[in-house]
Amino acid sequence: MIEFQNVSKRYPNGFEALKNINLKIEQGEFVAVIGLSGAGKSTLIRTINRMHDITEGTLTVDGTNVMELQGKQLRTFRRKIGMIFQSFNLITRTTVIKNVLTAFVPELPWWRALLGIFTKEEKIAALESLDKMGILDKAFVRADQLSGGQQQRVALARTLAQNPQIILADEPVASLDPITARQVMDDFLRINQDMNITVIINIHHVELALQYATRVVGIREGKIVYDGPASQVDQDILDSIYQGQKEEASA
Ligand code: ADP
Repeated sequence: MIEFQNVSKRYPNGFEALKNINLKIEQGEFVAVIGLSGAGKSTLIRTINRMHDITEGTLTVDGTNVMELQGKQLRTFRRKIGMIFQSFNLITRTTVIKNVLTAFVPELPWWRALLGIFTKEEKIAALESLDKMGILDKAFVRADQLSGGQQQRVALARTLAQNPQIILADEPVASLDPITARQVMDDFLRINQDMNITVIINIHHVELALQYATRVVGIREGKIVYDGPASQVDQDILDSIYQGQKEEASA
């Protein structure tokens, strides 16, 4: 379980991006975080794996105080949490399989990482992840030869190879066309349902958020203004999240 207790986050320049956040997310939930650009969605999800430090309150994952983790403990903790970005973050000039194998690099002795030497077991695990994402046939293709949707699937396969408990996704479909975006959302749903992995998505596309997530967290100016079932989100709730700027936000 992920638990925020009275969490605030102030950036070094003094800007308070999160204000007194209280939130509990159980294992296996599918949560969409929605809100206007600049509301604090990305900051919120990036505190969970300590990409950003909180500055007030307590944040725990399965009872572990995230802010107390250091060094090896922090690295081990981060392996439990996969991260997916809008820009896929692949090494585009190399093959798909090599991209997935990078999931193992943090655990390797430095010389194996340096030489790019992977065991048979690691290679099999990487191929299995690609198979789960339905792109095994692309294993030996260069990543930059793939479409955006296929590249996001490779990123998901790389994340699955690290056997995560939680996947954080920061605008994962924002740069995809509407049909491909749905296919990638289907992948997130399948991962969530078949593997009981918690999925937390920062997404500005409200329709997709309501269709795929079971729970919606609405953020406005760093505060949670809605937290509840996606099925109960109505126009009044959307207005409270977007302050009547919904058209502008989803344009
Ligand atoms: P969202 O994901 O909802 O678009 P962000 O979490 O990226 O919002 O940003 C929330 C607010 O924090 C914005 O006003 C943004 O300008 C500010 N912010 C983000 N990163 C930094 C930073 N490194 N330093 C100062 N302010 C930041």
